[in-house]
Amino acid sequence: MTLTQGNTIDFDSARLKLSAGASAVAVAPVENPQRSLAMVQDKLTHSLQTSLELDRILELFFQELRGFLDLDCLEYRLDGVEVHHRVGQPSLHRCSYRLIHVGSFLGEIQFSRKKRFSETQLMALETLLGNLLYPLRNALLYREAVFSAHNDSLTGVGNRLAMDRALDREVKLSIRNRTSLSLLVLDIDYFKQINDRYGHACGDEALKAIVNCTRNCLRDVDDLFRMGGEEFVILLSNTPATQARMVAERIRNTIEHMQFEWDGASIPMTASLGVTTRQVDEGNREVLDRCDKLMYSAKRAGRNRIAC
Ligand code: GH3
Ligand code: MG
Ligand code: MG
Repeated sequence: MTLTQGNTIDFDSARLKLSAGASAVAVAPVENPQRSLAMVQDKLTHSLQTSLELDRILELFFQELRGFLDLDCLEYRLDGVEVHHRVGQPSLHRCSYRLIHVGSFLGEIQFSRKKRFSETQLMALETLLGNLLYPLRNALLYREAVFSAHNDSLTGVGNRLAMDRALDREVKLSIRNRTSLSLLVLDIDYFKQINDRYGHACGDEALKAIVNCTRNCLRDVDDLFRMGGEEFVILLSNTPATQARMVAERIRNTIEHMQFEWDGASIPMTASLGVTTRQVDEGNREVLDRCDKLMYSAKRAGRNRIAC
């Protein structure tokens, strides 16, 4: 026996059907006789307008629903953009919905509770999901806008704006906690030649390959940013100089041995890196400029090397 009931709600076609059924649900209060479906819908209309943050919207939605339907958990997932939120603790009986609006997939939502869901309860749930539609869609659009403002569209890593903010935060943390903050500036060597020889599309793929390769050399807590062109900055929080040098050397070595192919041709790539650790009196600009200069001294010294 399966305890999960699955369903797809296409909001456009479901709306009519659900509003027709809603009055029947309203006269048969579900779990909490003090609250009618219309009351919950009314509260949702107001509370879901108060935020554009996805996790907050889901939390507010769950709070209202749980007072009505005795739910233990709500889980929302949108694969592809790696969104996964859970409110509450999962339980035995589950029902899930794939949410679709104007042909776009808005994610999958699952509810669970200890008791089995009755048909009336499922109908109520489906009606209330209608109240989630626009707040959910707006929260997803907002999330996308925030992501675009802070991320490089080609490689997906943080852009200069995100780097400025992260560096500011990391410098403050390193001062407050008296921890070492290290920084790497990475520039790909002779990158223009790749564009000239194999075309811009190849250059784009090469940039993505460098990003993947560099990411694989880092811990989850380290941050990688694209400063523009073929130059990147890596923030290594709570990392002393010797460790930072090891990370830089690992990245340099991995890029040198990376297999990057285009149209059947194997294209070798190398990078030059500057490595610094913030000194006590240094602010954001100073430490970044020093690191940038070191990267250029690695170039002058022959490229495919690190300079500290
Ligand atoms: P060096 O070793 O001195 O760093 O030489 P370089 O050729 O890497 O440096 P240069 O600054 O002369 O050239 C950088 C090139 O990067 C020029 C530019 O067209 C290319 N570039 C910048 N952004 C992109 C991009 O998004 N995609 C592609 N394909 N190329 C890019
Ligand atoms: Mg370069
Ligand atoms: Mg450059």
